[in-house]
Amino acid sequence: MDAKNLTCRRCGAVYPLENRYSCDGCKGILEVTYDYGKVFSKNPIGNPHRDLPGMWKFRGLLPVEHKSHIVTLGEGDTPLLDAGSIAEVWGCDLEMAVKAEMLNPTGSFKDRPTSVGVSVAKEKGFEKIVVASSGNASASAAAYAARAGMECVVFVPDSTDPNKVVQAQSYGARVICVKGNYSRSFDMAKLCAKRYGWANVTSTFLNPYTVEGDKTPAYELYYQLQGRVPDHIFVPIGSGPLLVGILKGYEELKRMGLIRRLPAMVGVQVTACEPITRAYEEGSARVRGWEGQIETMAGGISDPLMGYEGDGELTLEAVRRTGGRMVSLTEDEVRDAFRMVETKMGLYCEPTGAVSVGAVKKLWDQRVLKKGALAVCLTTGHGFKYSGRQPEKPPVIDSEDQIDRLVR
Ligand SMILES: [Zn+2]
Repeated sequence: MDAKNLTCRRCGAVYPLENRYSCDGCKGILEVTYDYGKVFSKNPIGNPHRDLPGMWKFRGLLPVEHKSHIVTLGEGDTPLLDAGSIAEVWGCDLEMAVKAEMLNPTGSFKDRPTSVGVSVAKEKGFEKIVVASSGNASASAAAYAARAGMECVVFVPDSTDPNKVVQAQSYGARVICVKGNYSRSFDMAKLCAKRYGWANVTSTFLNPYTVEGDKTPAYELYYQLQGRVPDHIFVPIGSGPLLVGILKGYEELKRMGLIRRLPAMVGVQVTACEPITRAYEEGSARVRGWEGQIETMAGGISDPLMGYEGDGELTLEAVRRTGGRMVSLTEDEVRDAFRMVETKMGLYCEPTGAVSVGAVKKLWDQRVLKKGALAVCLTTGHGFKYSGRQPEKPPVIDSEDQIDRLVR
């Protein structure tokens, strides 16, 4: 393994690759750093491993030492699908493509960070994991714990979609609902990890290993686009580890000399909970936690960042550094976006997952995007996870002569 240390993103303090969630000195966010000279001499992108499916073919850039500790369900290798049919309807004169992350094993992008987090926990000898989640990460952690033969406790907000709760329970996890917003579940998981000595695989920026899984869509896009770098990558974000992870992946590709420039990263929130967009629009580097009631169908990204505002600041910095931006959608725009993904692409999508697509229209209409630009949108969660649809009652017939009036 060529992962070398945990390094504080704020003060640069260096720690061994241990079970650690923040910097002792400044409480800053930690990240895994590598012996890049060694990594690159092996060319892990050009010479991927062929013995495991999905994202683990790039394990030269992931922090697990022994192959036997890798806990995988085949995550990664999600398709990149042309979304020209949507661009056409919306009158967006650009190239648009969807990276269909909802097609991961448990139906969300969270399988990438969770697979890394659980593998590292297994490697370090943990038998029990805890996670805080707005839903998708709980189902994912529960599945990977089952796969690893580990016990799993998950904390979710009591407003979490019942489809996500039942999914986590089905894998055998103990699900505990916490009153209030996501930040409170986050605190409970932290407390449990400390009190009982369990591994916390919460895939915000808390567990530094999980974010490494979020790099892997960049490596796959490198192949899928034959080395071409998208002009913009649109990512639905709560605190933003997926956005920061993808950017880290692209930065590694650049350091390896495989690409010359970075994509502009666009973070997408909803107006019902937009702490990072608010800071972006204020021109501030400081993110303030989002106060008040949150009502949105995009529950997967309604993270108020209360008490860990620094996570949002890290994401905001990444967005600005790449010449990208933050944007938020209204509920009507979210509805329009996920219906488009479903009806024009045939991808069953949860509302949260489609905000990336809706943001393309919004920025095109605001004349922010250039004609002919390549926009890649990550659609993060599967439609099976969303129970908020109002099904149209289908007609019931009992004889064939009734068909005519219904289908012609
Ligand atoms: Zn520090």
